[in-house]
Amino acid sequence: MGTTVATYASHSALQILHGAKGEGFQTIAFGKARVRPLYTKYFPVADTFIESDYPEDELLERNAIIIPTGSFVAHLGVELVEKMKVPYYGNKAVLRWESDRTLERKWLEKAKLRLPMIYRDPDEIDGPVIVKPHGARGGRGYFLARSPADFWEKAGRLGIRDKEDLSEVQIQEYVVGVPVYPHYFYSKLNRELELMSVDRRYESNADAIGRIPAGEQLGLGLGTNYTVVGNIPLVLRESLLMDVIEAGERVVKVAEELMGGLWGPFCLEGVFTEELEFVVFEISARIVAGTNPFVHGSPYTWLRYDEPVSTGRRIAMELRQALEEERLGEILT
Ligand code: AMP
Ligand code: AMP
Repeated sequence: MGTTVATYASHSALQILHGAKGEGFQTIAFGKARVRPLYTKYFPVADTFIESDYPEDELLERNAIIIPTGSFVAHLGVELVEKMKVPYYGNKAVLRWESDRTLERKWLEKAKLRLPMIYRDPDEIDGPVIVKPHGARGGRGYFLARSPADFWEKAGRLGIRDKEDLSEVQIQEYVVGVPVYPHYFYSKLNRELELMSVDRRYESNADAIGRIPAGEQLGLGLGTNYTVVGNIPLVLRESLLMDVIEAGERVVKVAEELMGGLWGPFCLEGVFTEELEFVVFEISARIVAGTNPFVHGSPYTWLRYDEPVSTGRRIAMELRQALEEERLGEILT
């Protein structure tokens, strides 16, 4: 039986399955009953839809390869994903490094990326900071503070009253800059890094606050949240491209030393400051939904391929090449 490409029905599944069909694969989406029509009727990218959180037996029977997404990992949890038997595109060893802020920081520091400074002691806060509760994702529960007193007042509302409770949060320097999320693809087969596209997020309420006049904002007592609603395509100033590419190259190189490699799609999430420095908050070691505006390719994939190549399509091209060269084992874990 031929190989099937499968993914969890959310996040970037439309793009992944569309790309897989473009390379001639059979496709499976699995997930909640309500979204079946999205993947089979409105956008007919799934040959089969299975109503299940993770239909392991069926996926094994159908010779499926799972393409992980943020939704899939968030949904199943790192432990289950590590144990699953269905072949997984990418290096599962990366999951631990990415989900633990301390390990993630070690990786990115070793790659010589500029990261936000960390304050161990809130009483040393001497500029704007962003406070991130551990495990909180997508900015929920984050708050901003500008002094020790401001920190303790806001932290108190979360039940953090003394230094003993600080293990619950990380206090980062708040870096003023514009958000930039470059999307990469590292081909393990060809040993080559590709810049796929770049996005910025459209977040509620971070992108809504600027619509309220400053005078009114003061009275409203709003906090900032970063709940993603969509993604906006971005093209970078050309003189910044080498910075972004070299950062990606170093992350891949260090991953080889630390965890046996990072391959397939990944994204560095950060801001560019007014000094044109790329400061990175986080790495996402799989396809990010910010690639979704580029179903028909991006300016960068057009420059390389002269045809529309999305990240979803690029994944399928890698699988196709691996099948042809009988090297699937090298890219699945
Ligand atoms: P969902 O399947 O939409 O519930 O998303 C699962 C995870 O992926 C959440 O952690 C989201 O924050 C993240 N995510 C989903 N869609 C996007 C997007 N368009 N841009 C950035 N992150 C996203
Ligand atoms: P994260 O959940 O870490 O991806 O952060 C969500 C959002 O918070 C990002 O998209 C940024 O806009 C903002 N953010 C996170 N960390 C920082 C930081 N150190 N300085 C400024 N903004 C940040």
